[in-house]
Amino acid sequence: MINPLYILFIILISSVLGSFFNMLIHRLPRNQEIVKKPSHCPKCQHKLTWLDLLPILSYLFLKGRCRYCREKIASRYLLVEISSVFLFTTCWLIFGPTYLFLKYSFFLSIMLLIFFTDLETKKIPDSLNYILICTGLFLAFYEHSIIDSILGLIIGSFIFLSIGFLAKLYYKKDALGGGDVKLSGAIGAYWGLSIMLFSIYFSFLIGGLVSIFLIILKKKTNQDYIAFGPFMVLGSILALLISDYLIILYF
Ligand SMILES: [Zn+2]
Repeated sequence: MINPLYILFIILISSVLGSFFNMLIHRLPRNQEIVKKPSHCPKCQHKLTWLDLLPILSYLFLKGRCRYCREKIASRYLLVEISSVFLFTTCWLIFGPTYLFLKYSFFLSIMLLIFFTDLETKKIPDSLNYILICTGLFLAFYEHSIIDSILGLIIGSFIFLSIGFLAKLYYKKDALGGGDVKLSGAIGAYWGLSIMLFSIYFSFLIGGLVSIFLIILKKKTNQDYIAFGPFMVLGSILALLISDYLIILYF
């Protein structure tokens, strides 16, 4: 499966998916039409042709600017396309043409969408969380681990609901959004109880460190709202990478 032709194919498909992800990141939180509306520049509204929409290449050739009005295109477009290629190629190199390739790359694609949407708009679209929950339950049924999945969903949501409640008492305003509650439940539904617990643990670890860093750099104060979704995404990826080792180490 390390055949260069297969890998080239994966790179092509994943870069096209990357542009599709960019469109979703822009449109989902704005509740815009996804299928029918053709792509256009958000500034000058000019309709974009296939030449403007070549993944990665268009951005580089146009030096990150719109071809019609020279407005700067957010670097997120390039970042998402490159991340998409990296994500699918890595999963392919690790798993090859297997069920696990599909399971991991689907999860990571949704995480990519959540990461950038939450970072930009401080919102996690419900549709992404619900897709993750439904797919998670469906796969768990197929894998005969439905109990673990349901427990992950319920306990994951409950932990975040409780943390949100305590944070609200302390800060006197909403500190965690409903999207975060659903996301931790969704990670539980998809991967089961133990990975979900590790994800929450790592997300608070990473979130805490980054927040301290931002406050020291005076980019934020401790009263500012910092989107938590990106930390959940990073926490869940870290949990997937190392929770097996931690379980062997401690249990
Ligand atoms: Zn334009």
